[in-house]
Amino acid sequence: MLVVKKFGGSSVADKERIFNAAKRCIEDYKNGNQVVVVLSAMGKTTDGLIAKAREINPNPPKREMDMLLSTGEQVSVSLMAMAMNVLGVPAVSLNAAQVAMHTTSAYGSAKLKRIDTERIRHELEARKIVIITGFQGVNKYDDLTTLGRGGSDTTAVALAAALHADACEIYTDVDGVYTADPHVVPNARKLQEVSYDEMLEFASLGAKVLHNRSVEMAKRYGVQLVVRSSLTRAEGTIVKEETKLERMLVSGVAADKNVARISVLGVKNEPGIAFKIFNLLAKHNVNVDIIIQSIGREEKKDISFTVAKTDLEEALDLLEKNKESITAQAVTNEENVAKLSIIGAGMMSNPGVAAKMFEALSNANVNIKMIATSEIRITVLIHEEDVNRAMRSVHDAFDLAD
Ligand code: ADP
Ligand code: ASP
Ligand code: MG
Repeated sequence: MLVVKKFGGSSVADKERIFNAAKRCIEDYKNGNQVVVVLSAMGKTTDGLIAKAREINPNPPKREMDMLLSTGEQVSVSLMAMAMNVLGVPAVSLNAAQVAMHTTSAYGSAKLKRIDTERIRHELEARKIVIITGFQGVNKYDDLTTLGRGGSDTTAVALAAALHADACEIYTDVDGVYTADPHVVPNARKLQEVSYDEMLEFASLGAKVLHNRSVEMAKRYGVQLVVRSSLTRAEGTIVKEETKLERMLVSGVAADKNVARISVLGVKNEPGIAFKIFNLLAKHNVNVDIIIQSIGREEKKDISFTVAKTDLEEALDLLEKNKESITAQAVTNEENVAKLSIIGAGMMSNPGVAAKMFEALSNANVNIKMIATSEIRITVLIHEEDVNRAMRSVHDAFDLAD
């Protein structure tokens, strides 16, 4: 068997955790398996590096950010190889350039395009454990790139697909995917299985337990994942195409605090304006989520939407610079907001789900600023301060607790 095992930052945060992870990998190795390990940077290293960069330059060039951030994963992979060496098992660490993990050139949000497997295969055949940096790649200029925060999950899935691995295991600090973030909703229930589509919604709507692109890729290449704890032997959650379990109306609640609202006010009520606004943002890689357009009045209308907080400055800058061409009278924004979503393939054919969610929010005295729906999710934009309370209230209303 070929196994890909990914350990997140908290699972390699210190010496003890590194040895703990090393031993779990060695168990598989000693059972005769080929073992590929993908690591994140230790603990909060990436946050620390970002803070360091901002001390020097509040608006650092994206290329240099990737050069900096990619060091975090190099530290953890080399230390892991040293730990395995102490434990008497041959291991080799490789970064993205050494493997040749090719990505697009978009620094900070690069997409994996192609992975050369030759070096990895060669090392595996020499009976070594191969430890690879998550989160990073190389672009056509031979520069290091990063895949976006949380991107190590995507590295693991991409490697599992490229190597046709028999298993892809994501080890983290919780023992699976829950009906809501167990750190916010203490009585959240662990899901035995979750479908790719639901997991994709979970991940895209803020449940950072898996990087959303890792789920997208797992679905595309049919990589079955298991999300489990690096510290306990609990079974974990299986992420796969179809789940056999009885479909719940709502499978969970997710929240995302990395959100800001932008309103473009008083634009002309004529064709092409929405295209101009969203094309401008798309060209600069700014993702937009909930969109609301007011009914036109006196030849004018307002368009509001949400972006990631981390994209807010860039988005405002773009809109201000292009104010005339998009015919805006003013551009306003609000930062202290969060998205709260319910997710579930079961809600498609069930009326009343939205009403129930709104009732739970009303009971918790939470004001709704924006609403968006799809077949398998309902999202509301609320005040950031309300989000944890709102999450517990909605979780209770749908009887999701253990
Ligand atoms: P890692 O460093 O291992 O990649 P992350 O911090 O990225 O770990 O993701 C794990 C965290 O995801 C958990 O600690 C938990 O707080 C959070 N989380 C959010 N939503 C969920 C959910 N529905 N189920 C499990 N964990 C969740
Ligand atoms: N170290 C990166 C981050 O903190 C990637 C990851 O952990 O997946 O975002
Ligand atoms: Mg993560």
